[in-house]
Amino acid sequence: MGNLKLALIIKNPRDDVTFLLEKQKQPAKFGDEHYDSFVDSDLWDLPSTDLLVLEDGVRSGFTISVLESCLEEVDLMNFDFESTLILLLANLGIDFSDVGEWRFVRSVEEPEFGPDSCVRTCFIAGKLLNTDQSLQDNCKWMSMEACFASLIDVKPGSDRVGPLVLLGFGDDSRQSLKHKLSSSLSIQEYPPGVMLVPMRSRTLKPFKTTNLVVFSPENGSGDHQGTDFVAHGDALIVDPGCLFKLHVELKKIVDALPRKLIVFVTHHHRDHIGGLSAIQESNPDVILVAHVKTRHRIDGWSGNYTPVSGGENIYVNGQKLTVIFAAGHTDGHMALLHISTQSLIVGDHCVGQGSTFLDIRGGGNMTEYFQSTYKFLELSPNVVIPMHGRVNLWPKHMLCGYLKNRRSREESILKATEDGAHTLYDIVANVYSSVDRRFWWAAASNVRLHIDKLAVENKIPEGFSIQKFKASCGLRFAIRWTVGYIRSKIPFKINKPGFIMSVIAAGAGYFLLYTSKKKNQIKS
Ligand SMILES: [Zn+2]
Repeated sequence: MGNLKLALIIKNPRDDVTFLLEKQKQPAKFGDEHYDSFVDSDLWDLPSTDLLVLEDGVRSGFTISVLESCLEEVDLMNFDFESTLILLLANLGIDFSDVGEWRFVRSVEEPEFGPDSCVRTCFIAGKLLNTDQSLQDNCKWMSMEACFASLIDVKPGSDRVGPLVLLGFGDDSRQSLKHKLSSSLSIQEYPPGVMLVPMRSRTLKPFKTTNLVVFSPENGSGDHQGTDFVAHGDALIVDPGCLFKLHVELKKIVDALPRKLIVFVTHHHRDHIGGLSAIQESNPDVILVAHVKTRHRIDGWSGNYTPVSGGENIYVNGQKLTVIFAAGHTDGHMALLHISTQSLIVGDHCVGQGSTFLDIRGGGNMTEYFQSTYKFLELSPNVVIPMHGRVNLWPKHMLCGYLKNRRSREESILKATEDGAHTLYDIVANVYSSVDRRFWWAAASNVRLHIDKLAVENKIPEGFSIQKFKASCGLRFAIRWTVGYIRSKIPFKINKPGFIMSVIAAGAGYFLLYTSKKKNQIKS
């Protein structure tokens, strides 16, 4: 069992329709005027927190009474519902005694997004007994209807509603596409109508899956379909990158969707296109939409193709999505913005946790990466959907975090060059000295891209030769890395430079260079 959370549905006694939402805490500021000037709008969701473990093994009468209504959830008996509840209510300025009629509603486990274990959320519902209770500023009453309306028809800059509301109330009452996909895979729906299916793929650690995005609105409500489109259909799939053994599941999903299907590919990496053949087998009429540089790197696609370069619209059952040119990770990398929910599907520009790397062989470019990040900030999306990991509910904060980290890394690289590191290996060894040597290969690509960016901006220090730097990449870096790696792994007594070691190192270096070329297509 993964992390366990408790979420509350507190009904309003005055109308029995509205329930309590808590304003979610904004992420910590950066302490930098530039980044702190980008602020996400307020996010409201059901009050929630991590469930406390029962310390002394003695269950309170409250815990037992709540869990009586969920007999199948026996593993919940070791958690302290009462203490967790008291903490949660204190944040809302409500006494434990002011709420009653508690009952267990459901527990929902999220799909396997990774890299950490799945979060399971227990929802319990109660009713505010004290009708005179005035609410704190961090609370408000809202109906499901109002929540739903604000989720599917987003007004720029307005308050947002989080995913627990959808999960807590379930989607039994709605005609959710989730039930029709008839897949045994776990699916997350957020915002309404946007399905995320993490599917096992040949991606890079720490992730194991690529999020398949499935979008098929029931009716054409929302945007009116205009004439300004490059493709239109009744359903959309983004980045089918699953393993071959999951093609059966992917085909089930495609078979459940309308025939007029569009498949959008953010970029060419194999963990984003691995399922294209299965889609084409299930539905030969499907239209592939991708940048021409991505299309050129996809083998085996013989079906319909529509090129996009950014700015075009796609309509899916009347709902508009705009294609965003978002180069950086690769040169043909694209993002997709669903207009009515302001959901930004970002491909590999960002990941759910940690940092992404740029594919130097796939046309990755640091200057373009920064430009695309600022473009995303200007779009001011409500939610960011990456292809690896969970959705991000604080888009501006996350994007600024990426900018800050990359700028900080760039400053370290610049400092290293000023201090006399003029080869790729010396710069990597200086800047990434605290990082495991196994990751220096990926780091080397980033350093090369940062040096390119610094050169474009005329920031390279005098005396630093770009020509010499470029000559130090490739095989020369491979040899030095291999020698350094072997030396770090063998006992000190026999750790001395010698002819045999040099031969081994050179051979290994050549091998690594050869295999790294082979890996060109498999970067995530
Ligand atoms: Zn990628």
